[in-house]
Amino acid sequence: MKSRATANPTQNAIEQLERAEKRWARIDALLRRLVARLTYAAEGRLPQLDTALGNIRTLAHAPMDEKALEPLLNDLAEAVRSLDEIPVSTPPTLKELPNTTSVSDLLMAILDRLQLDKAANTCLDELRGPIIATADPAVLIQQAEALAGVVNHHCQQIGEQKVGAERLLAQVSEQLDELNHYLTQEGDDHREDSGARKNLDQHLSHAIDTLGTQVQQAKNLQTLREDVQSRIHAITVHMQSFHKREELRERAWQTRADLMNQHIHELERTAQDLEANLHQEQQLASTDPLTGIDNRLAFDNYLEQICQNATPKGYYTYLLVLDIDYFKNINDQFGHAAGDRALRIVAEQLRARLRAEDLLARYGGEEFAVVLKTSTMKAGTQVAETLRAGIEKLRFRCQQKPVHITISCGVTRLRADDTPASVFERADRALYQAKGKGRNRCEML
Ligand code: GH3
Ligand code: MG
Ligand code: MG
Repeated sequence: MKSRATANPTQNAIEQLERAEKRWARIDALLRRLVARLTYAAEGRLPQLDTALGNIRTLAHAPMDEKALEPLLNDLAEAVRSLDEIPVSTPPTLKELPNTTSVSDLLMAILDRLQLDKAANTCLDELRGPIIATADPAVLIQQAEALAGVVNHHCQQIGEQKVGAERLLAQVSEQLDELNHYLTQEGDDHREDSGARKNLDQHLSHAIDTLGTQVQQAKNLQTLREDVQSRIHAITVHMQSFHKREELRERAWQTRADLMNQHIHELERTAQDLEANLHQEQQLASTDPLTGIDNRLAFDNYLEQICQNATPKGYYTYLLVLDIDYFKNINDQFGHAAGDRALRIVAEQLRARLRAEDLLARYGGEEFAVVLKTSTMKAGTQVAETLRAGIEKLRFRCQQKPVHITISCGVTRLRADDTPASVFERADRALYQAKGKGRNRCEML
C-alpha cells in the first residue's frame, strides 16, 4: 500500500507533464502553420520582404533554433520598414495581366480598375470577399452580375444627375435672362439715378459672387440646386424691391414735374401779362395824351435811331419841324380849351396826310415834328407843302366864329454826318426863316 501510495504522485506528475508536453507540441505545430500561412499572405509586396518571409517559413518547419530566429526577425523588421518607402502603385491595367490570369483574378483586377463614387466603391468592395480565391463558376458569375449591376446603377445615377443639371441650367439661364431684361430696362429708365444703380450693382455682384462660391463648394446636385435657387430668389426679391422703390421715386418725380409745369405755365401767363403791360406802358410813355400822336420822347428815340443807321441807297430822310402861327392868339381869344381842340385837329389833319411809316410827333406846345423817308430829292419839301396847305384849308371855328389856322415849316435833309442835335438845329433854323419870311410857308436848309 505504501509503495503504491508513493508511486501514485510521481506517476501523476509524469502523466501531467506528458499531457502538457503534447499540448505544447500541438500549440507549437499550430503556431508553425500559422506563421507559414501569414508569410504566404504577406508575400508579393517586396522581394526583400519575400526573402525574409521565406526564411521564416523554412525555420517554421525546422526544429526551433533561437540563435537562427533572432537575425531572421531583424531581417523581417528591416524589410517591413522598407515597405513604407514603396510608392503607392496603381493597379495594373487589364492588358498587363498575363494570359494565364484566372477569372477570379480578372474580376479582382476589374474591381481595382473601377473608380466610381464613394457609395459605389463600397458596393464594389463588398463584391471582393466571395471572389478572392474561388474558382466556382456559379459564384464568379453571380459576382460578375452584381458588378454589372453596380456599374449600371452608377451610370443611371450619372444620367439622372446630368438631366437634373441640364434642367437646373435651363432654369438658371431663364431666370438670368429675365434679370438681364429687367436690368436693361432699369438701366434705360433710371440712367440718371446713379446712387440707386450703384447700390443695386453692389448687391448683385455680391449675390453673384456668393452664387459662384456656393457652386464651387456644392457637394452634390441637390445642394447645388438649392443654393442656386435660393440665391436667384434673393436676387429677384432684391430686384423687385428696387423696382418698387424706383416706381415710388418715379411717381414722386412725376408729381414734382407736374407741379413745376403748372408753375411754368403760371409764370408764362404772368410774363405775357407783364409784356402786354410793358407794351402798354411804353405806348403811354411815348404817346402825347392830348393829341394821341407820338410825343417828344418817341421822336428823340426815333431821331437817334435814324442818325445811327445810314439811309438806304436811293432814299432820303427828311426832318420837318412845324409850328402853329400865332397860336397864343387862339388861347388868348377863345381860351385854353379851344387851343387844345385846335392842337388835336391840327395833329389829326397832319396824320391824315402822312403815310403810316412816317413819324409824326408833338414836339412841344404847338410844335410838331415829322420824319419821313422818300425816294426823290424833292419829296421832303413837297410833303411839307402839302401839310402846310392842308392846315391852311382847315375850317376851324371857335364860338361860332371861323378861326384861320396856319403853320410854318422848316425842312432839312438828313446828312451822313448828322447828329440828332445838328439835324434838328438845321430844321429849327429853317422854321425860324419861315417865321421870319411871314409865316404860313416852308423853308428848306
Ligand atoms: P409864333 O407864330 O411866333 O409861333 O407865335 P405863337 O403865338 O404861336 O408862339 P408863342 O411861343 O408866342 O406862343 C405859344 C403859345 O402856345 C403859348 C402857350 O400858352 C401855348 N401853348 C403851349 N402849349 C399849349 C397847350 O398844350 N395847350 C394850349 N391851349 N396852349 C398851349
Ligand atoms: Mg412855338
Ligand atoms: Mg407858334
